[in-house]
Amino acid sequence: MNYAFLIDNRRCIGCHACSVACKAEHEVPLGVARTWVKYVEKGEFPETRRTFTVTRCNHCDDAPCVEICPTTALFRRRDGIVDFDGGRCIGCKACIQGCPYDALYIDPAAETAAKCNFCAHKIEVGLEPPCVTVCPTQAIVAGDLENPRARIVEILGRHPTQVRKPEKGTRPKVFYVEADTAALVPAAAPPPEAYMWAQSPAAAGLPPMPLTEEAGAPRRTYGVKEQHRNSWGFKVSAYLWTKSLAAGAFLVPALQSLLDPGRTALTAGHSLAAAFFLALTGALLVWDLRQPGRFLWTLTRPQWRSWLTRGSYVLAAYGLLLGVHVLAGLGFLTWPLPAALTVLTLLFAAATAAYTAFLFGQAKGRDLWQSPLLAPHLVVQAVLGGAALFAPSWLLWLLPVNGLLVAAEVWGRHPTEDAARAARLIQQDPRFTTGVLAAGHLLPLALLWSVATSSGTARLLALGGLLVWEHLYVQAPQRVPNA
Ligand code: SF4
Repeated sequence: MNYAFLIDNRRCIGCHACSVACKAEHEVPLGVARTWVKYVEKGEFPETRRTFTVTRCNHCDDAPCVEICPTTALFRRRDGIVDFDGGRCIGCKACIQGCPYDALYIDPAAETAAKCNFCAHKIEVGLEPPCVTVCPTQAIVAGDLENPRARIVEILGRHPTQVRKPEKGTRPKVFYVEADTAALVPAAAPPPEAYMWAQSPAAAGLPPMPLTEEAGAPRRTYGVKEQHRNSWGFKVSAYLWTKSLAAGAFLVPALQSLLDPGRTALTAGHSLAAAFFLALTGALLVWDLRQPGRFLWTLTRPQWRSWLTRGSYVLAAYGLLLGVHVLAGLGFLTWPLPAALTVLTLLFAAATAAYTAFLFGQAKGRDLWQSPLLAPHLVVQAVLGGAALFAPSWLLWLLPVNGLLVAAEVWGRHPTEDAARAARLIQQDPRFTTGVLAAGHLLPLALLWSVATSSGTARLLALGGLLVWEHLYVQAPQRVPNA
């Protein structure tokens, strides 16, 4: 069995009966939606045309939301339905980043993620989802792709169909007959500042993506508030920053002590600083959960393909190793510790810095984060953070190296238009020029060169620039529309 939907755009009249039936069936709260109808208009009066697009979870055969979920709250059933168990959800919002279709939201009542589940409870007793039965024009067809007598199979055999974002490789299973590309490609008609009848991103206090102003260009005239927007906010940006410091505070002095043991020594203070920032990192991660009481489930109910799970284990192991160093430094264990243990801790420090690149790589809804530069860049950011704390002279070469990596992320070639869009949003943000480039790179470099290689102001500025960069990098891809 492999259940799928087919939306026949020749029949859809944009009446919203499906959205309303879904709201009623699942008691979906106001402000979020499992399915909705998007209106896109094209042309200039009197040559205008309006198209309707029913949007929902695609029950992908290769679902990135399932892969990134750290606790198996999202899972693919044997009948091909991608279902959800709110009782296992920790509210990390990784699935929202993973879905390229903006199909998931956080239920404001349950504080867990939710989405269309094909009304699996109806399917199990031989009934159809209410969105199908309520549709007055039979524009929505649900069925089993492996049943040759199913109506969906018959229509698929007779008509060419499209799916949303096939290039993502998710093998989505909501098929559209005669859909307009302008309606299927989210950025072709991005959300406007205001809709006639509904709340827009701007009304929700969020900056909209700049619109195409060409006369006759496709424009979205009805939609819902983008559900994925800003689901990872400042706590995630701050987590990247504290994590860089947690890794760098050990990496830099450990490298110094290994490379030049006669001049520099790794002390308990270094490990204590790293442990402090690691504790802050953990606190930010837990604080960002919508179900903070379930934070240990990433360790106790692991879904091993998720880099959120793997990362939690990396952080835990690094924390344990730092604990050994602190205890040894304070005299509770034999000091100095064997070099092999320092090297092992150093490797875990590097893994702490870099694992987020793989987590962000699983966020298939964020094209900018798919960058192959991200892992090395995170390691450089960690070394930069550690240098600002303990080896300011290293900033003289680290700031240019980091600056080059920032430039490559922002001005380099991007494999997709959505990645390029996110990079442009960073370029256009005044905090990039002033906070990241000027205050975070050029000014500290000038101070280090002209005043002193240990300038405290330069170190603070470098750390501040790093924080601003993390924030812009986390936010920009979330402003690119996904539906
Ligand atoms: Fe549905 Fe999105 Fe998951 Fe695909 S990735 S199954 S569209 S929630």
